[in-house]
Amino acid sequence: MGQQNIVKEPIRRPNNRPPIKKKWRLKKKFKRNMLLLLIIFLLFAVVKAIVSDAKENQKSGIANNNYSQQTANLQSLKCLDDIKGFSVKIDKYFIYGTHLNAEGSLDIPNKYRVKNASIVLRKDDGKEQEYAINYKINGNKLDFKASDKINQGIYLDEIGKGDYYLLLKLLYDDNSSQYFSLENNTKYKNTQYYTVTKNRSNRKIDIFSGNYKEKNTPYFMLSVKKSKLPDDVYDIVIDAGHGGKDTGASYGQYCEADITIKYAKELKVALEKRGLKVKMTRQGDEDKNSTAYSAFSADGRVNKSCGSRAKYCFSIHLNSAEQKLEKGGLQIYCNANMDTSFAENMAKEIVKSTGMEYSPMVASKVADGVYCRNFSKSEIASSNATTKFEPYNITQDTNYYFIIRELGGIATNAYMDGRNPKYGKNDYCDSNVGIESYLLEMGYIIVDKDLDIILNEQKSYVKALAKQIEKEVGIR
Ligand SMILES: [Zn+2]
Repeated sequence: MGQQNIVKEPIRRPNNRPPIKKKWRLKKKFKRNMLLLLIIFLLFAVVKAIVSDAKENQKSGIANNNYSQQTANLQSLKCLDDIKGFSVKIDKYFIYGTHLNAEGSLDIPNKYRVKNASIVLRKDDGKEQEYAINYKINGNKLDFKASDKINQGIYLDEIGKGDYYLLLKLLYDDNSSQYFSLENNTKYKNTQYYTVTKNRSNRKIDIFSGNYKEKNTPYFMLSVKKSKLPDDVYDIVIDAGHGGKDTGASYGQYCEADITIKYAKELKVALEKRGLKVKMTRQGDEDKNSTAYSAFSADGRVNKSCGSRAKYCFSIHLNSAEQKLEKGGLQIYCNANMDTSFAENMAKEIVKSTGMEYSPMVASKVADGVYCRNFSKSEIASSNATTKFEPYNITQDTNYYFIIRELGGIATNAYMDGRNPKYGKNDYCDSNVGIESYLLEMGYIIVDKDLDIILNEQKSYVKALAKQIEKEVGIR
């Protein structure tokens, strides 16, 4: 009520007060109000800056989100002095899990025949690391990809501190060689990546491009620094399938959502013991009527996972079927065009240490216990007929499982871009940084043998998973 008193004050003032005082008081009041306005304005500006900063940080790798524009320093660029203006355009690049992949094409200078093409990571002190790549030559045109597999290419976690330039190297049949600098022809100008935590330490990798003006040479570089992991950045996401209103499959007194959260919690503890930072998509304390853990709500599984900037996601489920099955078994799902050795190792370890069998299912099988399921022709047709997925362009190359497809960004053709608001939105749809995701159907809830193992062998099951995850990320 302070303001009211100020207004009333002059009325109560005795008449013999000199008017000059009144003027001064009014002036003081005006000054005070202006000061108050200024403070409110400044506070507002500060809060706005903090909020927009937090938002920016959340959406790593999104095309329109530019981290502070980086440029190479002149001293560092001098290692490119031998490259005389020849450049190759990079048309696509992304990080999936822990690997950087890049692709592009070039016209081979006429007089040469190419014996080999490779990507070279040249440190600013001149040291080089060479990577075999995938390339094909058609006439004078050479198309290349760092790797055909989305989870291979340049392994980011093994790169030490320093500034590195990505170059294409051609070896000709007269044994001479030529280096080409890379020109970033994509909309992704700044990409940021944090390595998986090992020995409590991380490195931050900034990937950016620019032009070495003095030589007119474009560059595409990785700047690697030791860094603390920011609070909102994680190594691993564990997604306990279903939850809240959605109980998943059930059998007798057992339901999928209750079992997956138990496994998820134990796996979290096991990975944290190994020094990994783990994010859960749900905690198991959610309201039984909630749908907050749906796929695409603002705080749903997809946005929560992608916002964590984790390198891997494990989505835990139990399988079911409409008819009674003689045999159940393990199915680990991943995306197509992947090196599946990690998935195979997980499956092998689980089978060895729990007695769970590989699923005998042949459809979509990639290796023992490893599966890749894309939308089938009939699923696409029926989806289109019921307009369920329109206006999205789903093909038979599109992964069926949203947790695998949507967490991978452009690497796995995530498509839930919000064009159809009815189905929610993946804010990270267009991200060039994706999480390597695995959906584990641990066994069939409706098959007695499987359910017995799942209920009684939780410890060895989780231990098997943790052991292979630890091996994959290179802690040991
Ligand atoms: Zn499920």
